[in-house]
Amino acid sequence: MTRIDDLPLREELRGKSPYGAPQLDVPVRLNTNENPYPLPEELVRRIAERVAEAARGLNRYPDRDAVELRTALAGYLTRVTGHPVGHEGVWAANGSNEVIQQLLQTFGGPGRTAIGFEPSYSMHALISRGTGTGWISGPRNEDFTIDTEAAVREIHARRPDVVFVCSPNNPTGTAVDRETVLALYEAAQEAKGGAGALVVVDEAYGEFSHGESLLPLLAGRPTLVVSRTMSKAFGAAGLRLGYLAADPAVVDAVQLVRLPYHLSAVTQATALAALEHTDTLLGYVEKLKSERDRLVDELRAAGCEVVASDANFVQFGRFDGEGGQHAAWQALLERGVLVRDNGVPGWLRVSTGTPAENDAFLDAVRALMKENKR
Ligand SMILES: *Cc1c(COP(=O)(O)O)cnc(C)c1O
Repeated sequence: MTRIDDLPLREELRGKSPYGAPQLDVPVRLNTNENPYPLPEELVRRIAERVAEAARGLNRYPDRDAVELRTALAGYLTRVTGHPVGHEGVWAANGSNEVIQQLLQTFGGPGRTAIGFEPSYSMHALISRGTGTGWISGPRNEDFTIDTEAAVREIHARRPDVVFVCSPNNPTGTAVDRETVLALYEAAQEAKGGAGALVVVDEAYGEFSHGESLLPLLAGRPTLVVSRTMSKAFGAAGLRLGYLAADPAVVDAVQLVRLPYHLSAVTQATALAALEHTDTLLGYVEKLKSERDRLVDELRAAGCEVVASDANFVQFGRFDGEGGQHAAWQALLERGVLVRDNGVPGWLRVSTGTPAENDAFLDAVRALMKENKR
């Protein structure tokens, strides 16, 4: 049998593992930060209508520039952030992972580097590797906030071409304040000189935050990018639709690497239908936010340490004993609850589910905490 390392693989891919949260068949699955609410029936019907319409034109390539969709996304961003955005400053792709890949293909690549402050979203490092961009793992404080001074020092020392700031941060739930983003942006420009460096704020969980979007910081900052997704707040992880807002020049630059017709007519039609139902979907977000806050409170009451969360998930612990967090992950799994072990020593991450799923999870945690005490 041929193993992949027998193939003429790129050096930097040898011995590496693909991204993958376990997809296990368990009663309560709270491990990938999906929205637990299926799309409402009226939206499902609207998607069917719009997809049928698109199907009649499937002999043709889709709108390569996805202008109608980008206009709708710009309208949504303007509405929820109060910051005016036009379609020229918005770009969409198959998930924000593809958005990030296109940004790295455009602004990173061989001979260049990207930095992120870890623990953070592991795909930033993986997509960097996939695009031949060197990865720099930057520091974080004990409480998982970004250590601004250390981060600025690191940026000055390493002079990265791309800086990732995940806010709210996955897997810790921590939001990043605007002062920190501004300090990192300034440091990145100074360190690089010339045209500066790209700073990507990953707001995949922006809608779940107690605070405001960092999107208004785009004004007057041509190398700042905010990326977002319909996978979490819009409950459409299966759709694969992510997008960014930035200076229109960044959108123009990304055209140099995007595949022509990357966004299928079916995807564009489905995303447009979902955006027609924004209010209903944001109603689910409100429910999830209050359930998230309940998880934080009840986990604390159960004796866990919990990191304050602005996302639709909560990082909890600490499981420092025998086997650490992995033993706790296994014990919860045996009780029918799948959470995520992101490899952060002592901590696990749970996604907010429906009230019933959250109750089942909390029961399992309480039982585990009792057992651990004995
Ligand atoms: C889930 C997630 C994404 C979303 O990826 P998609 O490709 O849009 O599904 C992006 N960034 C972070 C930090 C995430 O957790």
